[in-house]
Amino acid sequence: MRGGFGIIDRPTKQEQLVSSGMRFAWSLVALVGASVINTGRPLGAQTARPTTDTLYMPRTIKAAYGKGTRSFDGRPGATYWQNRARYTMTITVAPPARSIRGTEEIVYANNSPDTLRIVVIKLFLNIHKPGAPRANGSPEEYLTSGVQIDRFAVNGASQPWNADAPVFTWRHVQLPTPLAPKDSVRLTFDWRYDISRLSNREGMLDPTTFYLAYFYPRVAVYDDSDGWDTMDFMDAQEFYSDFNDYEVAVTVPANYVVWGTGTLLNPSDVLQPAILQRFNQSLTSDTTIRIATRADVSSRSVTRQSENTWRFRATNISDMAFNLSNHYVWDGGSVVVDTVSRRRASVQAAYNDTASDYRNMVRYGRHALDWLSRNWPGVPYPYEKTTVVQGPAGMEYPMMANDESYPDTVFSRFVAEHEIAHTFFPFYMGINESRYAFMDEGWATTFEYLIGSVDLGTEAASAAFKQFRVGSWANARSPLEDLPIITPADALASFAYGDNAYGKAALGYLALKDMLGDNAFRAGLHEFMNRWHGKHPLPWDMFNTFNNVTGQNLNWFWDAWYFRNGYIDLGIASAQKAGNGYSVAIDNVGGMPSPVDIEAHFADGTTQRFHQTAGIWAADRRRAVVTIPTGKSVQSLSLDGGIWMDANPANNSWTQR
Ligand SMILES: [Zn+2]
Repeated sequence: MRGGFGIIDRPTKQEQLVSSGMRFAWSLVALVGASVINTGRPLGAQTARPTTDTLYMPRTIKAAYGKGTRSFDGRPGATYWQNRARYTMTITVAPPARSIRGTEEIVYANNSPDTLRIVVIKLFLNIHKPGAPRANGSPEEYLTSGVQIDRFAVNGASQPWNADAPVFTWRHVQLPTPLAPKDSVRLTFDWRYDISRLSNREGMLDPTTFYLAYFYPRVAVYDDSDGWDTMDFMDAQEFYSDFNDYEVAVTVPANYVVWGTGTLLNPSDVLQPAILQRFNQSLTSDTTIRIATRADVSSRSVTRQSENTWRFRATNISDMAFNLSNHYVWDGGSVVVDTVSRRRASVQAAYNDTASDYRNMVRYGRHALDWLSRNWPGVPYPYEKTTVVQGPAGMEYPMMANDESYPDTVFSRFVAEHEIAHTFFPFYMGINESRYAFMDEGWATTFEYLIGSVDLGTEAASAAFKQFRVGSWANARSPLEDLPIITPADALASFAYGDNAYGKAALGYLALKDMLGDNAFRAGLHEFMNRWHGKHPLPWDMFNTFNNVTGQNLNWFWDAWYFRNGYIDLGIASAQKAGNGYSVAIDNVGGMPSPVDIEAHFADGTTQRFHQTAGIWAADRRRAVVTIPTGKSVQSLSLDGGIWMDANPANNSWTQR
């Protein structure tokens, strides 16, 4: 979730949400003085239908389409390619010592048509080095000496590693021999780092609980549109990773349990028989099994009493993360995620026994997997498990989440559902989240709202959504907040990033769902997922697929919602009796094509709502004239956008004179 804005001087997610609410209240006060009188001038006549037959496309991406790697109907092109690698790692950790050591072999395959003379290596945790560029300031406890590379070799031959180079979270490495198309190269590293004492997305959760994420040297993505990904990791943007295969062995002292991405290959080597039995039972259980209780942990009867090596394997996945602790308790359960094959997925939770909300976490996780698999996105959960670990981050990794404990269990469930929804976007779909966060957070926020509507009821879910996800933008106080959603996310910060990635993007997807209807929307979403999962779709691939599958040119909608500066402000320009009802002219002052309810207040004291989808803006983005069919006499009309919060309610009503 980028929970927020995570650590330290950044507000936590919850604080950010609260502050959004506060901004909401303040801005309502401000709006009273700033109300705009709608003059009813014919905006539609001034602004002819914009030319939106084609969407803006950056030059680098146009070139990719030109080379046939992507197709204008939204499919991967005939010459689509992506690179991949096989990672084999051994990791040694012995808390409370902070040093983490790894040896690693990467066999990197070049499927591109290009001869690669360099490879770009990402060293994310160099963000902890003094002087590294960061989205936010950091206190002393955050700083470390970064990742030390003790040995680096290419195809077995040691190569110099210049540790003094003035780069931080990535660097390019010259290959002794260029890597030809269809060939592969073997890179080996011996590395170590001291885990940060201050944790957020990774780090020490406590002196004997370590969360390992972003931690191993890796090859950056080399793709058809941008070449090597040389974006600095600033602890704001999150992921862009190839789909790789991993074998990871994590060696820890006795009594430490390791939770991580992928299949635990050797549970019988590392667990005591009684714990092993409960673990195995949890894999087919529909209820929560307490795999390792506080009593088990206290009596040191969880792991075999020697140094243990925990072995994990994951294939075709974009990242690996681990948590290890000698005192977290461990719950597990499972749920059928594929009704056809009856495939089950495991849901596990690891937490301090004092975190009472976490006692429900397996249940929340089972519910999330079940609901997301069957409803929205309505694609079976694609992995074998998920593990939610108590930490401070509100942060997703493949098959792992690092979520805070909250006194309010509704909020705990909300955060778990959001992070688990990320399984689909970005992980399953291979989204370049670091540049197009709206295809990651936007979808997770969409699913979060839809599952919340079932959990809490639409009214409560909508109220929370308005407060947490929309209010900040509706009452924006900075021009940054109206930047187009397509703006590369690495150019955004703070609320500009938050609005574009989360609320604005989700409102667009939900407006599309409302306009197309569930069946057409689902068809577009499923075909997009079907075409691109395990690949690297760009926004244009998503837009083009929806156009292609629905048979509609939706570019007017994509353009207005995702490519333009704008906000939501609709106003009633005029209304008059016409035929068997009333003709109502609505101006789109803010520019976003949003749905709206027209509420009619009749002379007989009754009211009725007439829902209008965003489709009313298809012909003219600035002025829509709609008819509300009624035989009754209307006294007044008002507009209610619901979750599509109107930035200026002052022009939302009309009264019969
Ligand atoms: Zn998220």
